[in-house]
Amino acid sequence: MAPSYQKSKDLFEESQLFIPGGVNSPVRAFKSVGTNPPFIAKANGARMWDVDGNEYIDYVCSWGPLILGHRHPAVIHAIQRCLERGTTYGAPTDLELTLAQMIVEALPSVEMVRMVNSGTEATMSALRLARAYTGRNKIVKFEGCYHGHHDSLLIKAGSGLLTHGVPTSPGVPDNIAGNTINARYNDLELLEQIFNEVGSDIAAVIVEPVAGNMGVVPPTKDFLSGLRNLCTKHGALLIFDEVITGFRVSYGGAQSYYNVMPDLTCLGKIIGGGLPVGAYGGRKEIMQLVSPAGPVYQAGTLSGNPLAMSAGIATLEQLQQPGVYEELDRKSALLAQGLSQAARAAGVPVSFNRVQSLQSGFFTKHPVNDFASASTSDTNRYAVFFRSMLDQGIYLAPSQFEAAFVSLAHTDSDIERTVEAAYTAYKMAAQV
Ligand code: PMP
Repeated sequence: MAPSYQKSKDLFEESQLFIPGGVNSPVRAFKSVGTNPPFIAKANGARMWDVDGNEYIDYVCSWGPLILGHRHPAVIHAIQRCLERGTTYGAPTDLELTLAQMIVEALPSVEMVRMVNSGTEATMSALRLARAYTGRNKIVKFEGCYHGHHDSLLIKAGSGLLTHGVPTSPGVPDNIAGNTINARYNDLELLEQIFNEVGSDIAAVIVEPVAGNMGVVPPTKDFLSGLRNLCTKHGALLIFDEVITGFRVSYGGAQSYYNVMPDLTCLGKIIGGGLPVGAYGGRKEIMQLVSPAGPVYQAGTLSGNPLAMSAGIATLEQLQQPGVYEELDRKSALLAQGLSQAARAAGVPVSFNRVQSLQSGFFTKHPVNDFASASTSDTNRYAVFFRSMLDQGIYLAPSQFEAAFVSLAHTDSDIERTVEAAYTAYKMAAQV
């Protein structure tokens, strides 16, 4: 029997009267998969339950923060302990120092770090700092990478390769878009061309060291080291946006995993253990420019708030246990192998990318290594696949161009159940 989503449907209709599109972040509206979002009532471990009582194995994990799964006892305990002493003071606490020290110890390129409240704030602040440090205005980003919704980075490529960027949203002024250049992920030649033309104006190159926002796209072998060399050669800063990859692809982030050191690093998600957080950090010499140590202004009422710091510290402590990343990788590999066999058996071409506990299956026969190849995916097929999975109790990202997140809470039997459901769903997708 098909599950009922009636209560969710009613709530979604009512929410649309009071909240634009009924949601507080667009992807949650499930627009690209042609159905309504379940409203979630509660979650535990790898499971979520919606208001109609449907149970799901969750591969979104709040879009990445919940690497330990929902309601990990250590995280809940840390939050509860903190709550007993208050929620926020707008004054420094030892928790901020502890988390800053943990981040500095984990990430080889980071000597100092500033906490903010979201990934968007982290990248916005890192760009300001890079511009102040270099005295230059232009920023290079890569098509298909997402770094948050502030003006400088909500930009897509113009019609020619070296033309100025074009806003992806009304309300982003052209003169701001004009300072952002879009390059192609995994294409060093194009980037070199850009540097040769306008290198002395480029303050920073910002990149997701493993792209996660066009679906998962790993860097090719020399891409990150090539970025490092070009930035050094031309006096631009290299910014790794590790909001997804930080403490995910390894405890030391993508910079340790690939052994390429950026000048600045942006963090979010995991370091807040499921509470709102962001951070940016880097070499002392650069970070000392941030106010009040230096002249670059950046502030926040709830920045470094004790609840998020406590949840983050507890999460990182769990991630320090031996074998954690091997176990995440093993589970993620099990899922990717199972899905790939299921797709083959169902006769539907799916191209799989995986780095550690991040993975995507693109409905295309082409290998996916940049935005153009990701865009060859059949999104109608994904929508059919997605809806069938949801009806079978598997909660995936409601878009072809997002990652699946495997957590430590997923069991081998969760993964087996997921693969069985996927075979049915792939067969339905094959008929599209
Ligand atoms: N950078 C990356 C790589 C992200 O994936 C995201 C959000 N998913 C952001 C920045 C923005 O973070 P936030 O949504 O917390 O503003």
